[in-house]
Amino acid sequence: VSASLQAPRGTFDVLPQDAAARRHVESTARRLLEGAGYERIETPAFEATELFARGVGESTDIVQKEMYTFQDGASRSLTLRPEGTAPVCRAYLEHGMHKLPQPVKLWYLSSFFRYERAQAGRYRQFWQVGVEAIGSADPAVDAEVIVLLHMLLAELEVRDVRLRLASLGTPASRAAYREELKAYLHTHAEQLSPEVRERIDLNPLRAFDADHPGTREVMAAAPRLLDHLDAEDLDHFAAVRAMLDAAGVAYEVDSALVRGLDYYTRTLFEFTSDALGAQSGVGGGGRYDGLIEQLGGAPTPGVGWAAGIERMLLAADARPHPAIPVDLFVARDGDGAAVAAFALAHRARGAQLNVQMELAGRSLKGQLKQADRARARYVAVVGEAGTVLKDMQIGEQEDVGTDADAVVARVLRGRGPGGL
Ligand code: AMP
Repeated sequence: VSASLQAPRGTFDVLPQDAAARRHVESTARRLLEGAGYERIETPAFEATELFARGVGESTDIVQKEMYTFQDGASRSLTLRPEGTAPVCRAYLEHGMHKLPQPVKLWYLSSFFRYERAQAGRYRQFWQVGVEAIGSADPAVDAEVIVLLHMLLAELEVRDVRLRLASLGTPASRAAYREELKAYLHTHAEQLSPEVRERIDLNPLRAFDADHPGTREVMAAAPRLLDHLDAEDLDHFAAVRAMLDAAGVAYEVDSALVRGLDYYTRTLFEFTSDALGAQSGVGGGGRYDGLIEQLGGAPTPGVGWAAGIERMLLAADARPHPAIPVDLFVARDGDGAAVAAFALAHRARGAQLNVQMELAGRSLKGQLKQADRARARYVAVVGEAGTVLKDMQIGEQEDVGTDADAVVARVLRGRGPGGL
């Protein structure tokens, strides 16, 4: 394929050989999350640009430089969703979900788009499984969503997982802290990286995220938000921790934890895997009690997380996933039997059997080879005189006449214990 027709930089094809592992992630997430009362939600792949500008935060990297924004035919500014929380909150508002019993518990599995520097584990279109629990400030909700992500990572056998936990407090305590941090950063401005220095007033908290050695040194001694929480925030944080302790989930309180989204309040968490390289985050999230109000709704608490499908797969041991079993392969003995073979395959599928059939005009020998490759339990060789059914497990075969229903009945019976 010429370079201009290859998949765009930072994107990838999910090929058939990757499908089973991804299906396993999805079915594990579904069982776990729906078992806990979270219901699936799907939002559009693109939204009004304004939603992310307001919801994710103007000062974030995502909004400043990572959005795929375009105009549609009617000159509306639209953006491919870079994350799932703002769209889910938009849907909560738009559909009046505050009238439902709270919290409304939702999960999604979708792809997201960010114009990032592409590298191993970092893509421009990637997939996340996520949950949002909207409408309750109870610390049990924070603990529940964290424990669910912990269980998901364990079930998927993601290796060397660590959980970091912090609390950002409420906007008021955070605002007071921000002023103190800004003043501190200004007094150490000459040691900071130019990027951090330029954004002291815009987003001082991001300085904790920097790799720049001078900046890191300054930040090691910087005032910490955890020391500035008010009593209610401290109680909330203590309750979340007590529940995680009760669930036996280990964590490290990390007062330097920051995440690239503006909407978080109180609980903030991130799971990393030491099995990954530089891009070690597998999933994270937090509480966003101010977000819905920011989108024009009544003050409504919420908490959620998102975990990257590709990162989870990278950090888990690859293991074989069983292929879908083929009950019957329908072969044809001569072109004259093609229609009868087709009809038999159709009948058998109607009886809920997993059926494949010859589709490429192979010789009978080639067809049997193909059936073997597909690991078919039975092969029906349809000829003009009648059908022969071969049991591929035992190696026996039997003449089963011309009636398709009788052949199907024979396979259904043989599938049970005992064979033909
Ligand atoms: P975030 O929405 O930034 O909090 O990211 C949540 C999770 O999504 C991360 O921990 C990663 O596992 C995954 N993720 C975020 N950005 C990317 C990306 N560009 N490529 C692949 N996975 C990503």
